[in-house]
This record gives sequence, C-alpha cells and structure tokens, in this order.
Amino acid sequence: MTRVFNFSAGPAALPEVVLQQAAAEMLDWHGSGMSVMEMSHRGKEFIAIHAQAEKDLRELMGIPTNYKVLFLQGGAIGENAIVPMNLLRGKASFDIVNTGEWSKKTIKEGKKYAKVNVVATSEADNFTSVPAFETWKRDPDAAYLHICSNETIGGVEYNFTPDTGDVPLVADMSSNILSRPIDVSKYGLIYAGAQKNIGPAGLTIVIVREDLIGQALPITPSAFDFKQQADADSMYNTPPTYAIYIAGLVFQWIKAQGGLAAMEAHNRKKAAVLYDYLAASSFYSNPIAEGCRSLMNVPFRLKDEALDEAFLKGAKERGMVQLKGHRSVGGMRASIYNAMPVAGVEALVAYMKEFEAAHA
Ligand SMILES: *Cc1c(COP(=O)(O)O)cnc(C)c1O
Repeated sequence: MTRVFNFSAGPAALPEVVLQQAAAEMLDWHGSGMSVMEMSHRGKEFIAIHAQAEKDLRELMGIPTNYKVLFLQGGAIGENAIVPMNLLRGKASFDIVNTGEWSKKTIKEGKKYAKVNVVATSEADNFTSVPAFETWKRDPDAAYLHICSNETIGGVEYNFTPDTGDVPLVADMSSNILSRPIDVSKYGLIYAGAQKNIGPAGLTIVIVREDLIGQALPITPSAFDFKQQADADSMYNTPPTYAIYIAGLVFQWIKAQGGLAAMEAHNRKKAAVLYDYLAASSFYSNPIAEGCRSLMNVPFRLKDEALDEAFLKGAKERGMVQLKGHRSVGGMRASIYNAMPVAGVEALVAYMKEFEAAHA
C-alpha cells in the first residue's frame, strides 16, 4: 500500500490513524457485531457515538451551553438557502462581505429569500484581501451579517473576528473550522461542510445560538428547520450516521494532538514552510495580501503557465496529488488542512525547489 500526500481542497485528506481505526472497526464496532453503517440511528450504540461526537466538538471549540450543535445534511451550499430561511426572523435583509467565489454563491442564493446588502467587497483587488472592517457599510436592521471566514478557492482568510454588535454574525467556516481556536460566543451561527477539516462529505455542522431559532419561514423544509432539528437532537430525519462516526474519530484525534491551540501551531508551522519559500522565490508567486493569507489553502502560480502540466506531472510521480488550482483562478493550490503532516509540505517545497532549478 502507498499513500500519497493529498493536497485536495475537498473532499480532503483524513488523519491516517482515523482511517486505520475505522478500518479495524468496519465489520464489528465495539463488539456490536455490526458496522456503524448498519446501525439504527435510534439504537443505543449510535446514540452513544453521536453524543460523544457532540461532546468532543463542544469541548474542542469551547461551545457555550446556549448554543445548539446540529449534525445535518445538505452541505455548505445548502446552508446558503437554509440560513436565510431560518435566520431572517421577520426581517427583510441580511448583510454580507464579498471576499470571493464562496461569498458570491451565498449572495446569489440568498437573493431568493432576502434583500442582500453587500457591505464591502474586495472585487477591486480581484479578491486577494479582506476589506478592512472600518470600511464596511453595515445596516443595523440586517437580520445578520454573513462572512466566509476562509475563501477556499482564493486562499483568503480572516485574521480578525468582526464585532457586529446586536446583528448576529454568521460564518461559513467550511474550510477553516477546527484549524485554530475561535470564540464561538462572538458568532450567532457557524456552519461548515465536513469534507475539508472534519470528515466525509455528506455531513454539515451547524452551531447556532438558541435565541435565534424557532422563527423559520413557513416554507422551510422540516429537515432543515433548525428548531425542529434541535428539538429532535438532529434526528428529525436520518442523520449521516457514518460521517458523524468518522467526524467523532477526527475530534478525538484533534484532542489527542492537544486541541485547537496545538492545531494552530501545527498549521502555522506548515503554512510558513510554504509561504516563506514562495516569498523567497522569483519563479513562484502568491497574489494574496499579507495578513490575509490562508493557513489552509495556498494558491500559487508558476512564472510561466506553460510549465503547469509538467509541474503537476512531476508532483504526481513523487506522490503528491491534487495540486491543480481551481478552474476559476488557474495556477496551483496546495490545501494543507489539519490532517496534512509537516512532512507533506516539506516534500512539496523540496520538489518546488527541484523544479525551479530545472526550469528557471
Ligand atoms: C467547500 C465549500 C463549500 C461547498 O460545500 P458543499 O459541501 O459542496 O455544499 C462552501 N463554502 C466553502 C467556504 C467551502 O470551502
């Protein structure tokens, strides 16, 4: 068996020990005689798995008791509709900061349900920065203010948590959740698709302040009504059971590494290896404003894009895959989520040096 260094933006690499444990427990989970996939979601075994996963996530993120944690389906793109349906609470509009591709999707979908007020945009610099908080034209009557805390495609990450006062802050954290400690109490709602930093695709995590739920639009599907799901412990419909089990193993892995502070140190170290090399090289470049560079997704370009194919081919031959940038931005992108070891980034930089020497 050979495992590659997988730089995929998502679904992405998982910690190898988690996959090994899942493999060992595949046919018989803890003497139950069943795979987790085969369990009733209402049986005592799965209820224990679900409860432990929620407990570990609460502990890792320091989630206050007045927040609900929901394990749902529909993905982060689903939340672009589900959040306004649940959180407009009789109001007509929500605020949003446009920092790139994922923000644009949120704006487009949100317009089906609300008036969308773009309070700031980094379009003028081609989405290579986060607009300074002082420039945001916020509406005090907005139902909430939405940000994408890490633009997975552009490689732009917030380095601050905006203080939106009485207007609840909503964040799409799909690609940087669990990468570092955050203060959950500063947010009204956090959501994330699991397939970047948590586990398998198919699970969507929603963390929502209790007082914001219970006023969903009448058209809201019951399976996506946060209050109905909170009251049913996320089991109004069958939850994505196997994905919740794997997410639970990932939470335990993060705890064993020392929690989110240790994850941040690990992620900063990895990102520095790559960004420092990019800064020193005149062969490769990274367009993102300093201070807004993502710790999770690192886009970069070669001096001559005619060399892109050769670069990717050589990387693959050396066991490094999924480095091609998103089609909307081109170039390369290395996604280096929690599960990517330092050795993976070091191997990438060693190869980049070798390629530079051969082609500069
Ligand atoms: C991957 C991603 C999404 C899309 O998630 P789906 O699971 O495909 O719905 C949305 N937002 C961000 C920030 C992402 O990284």
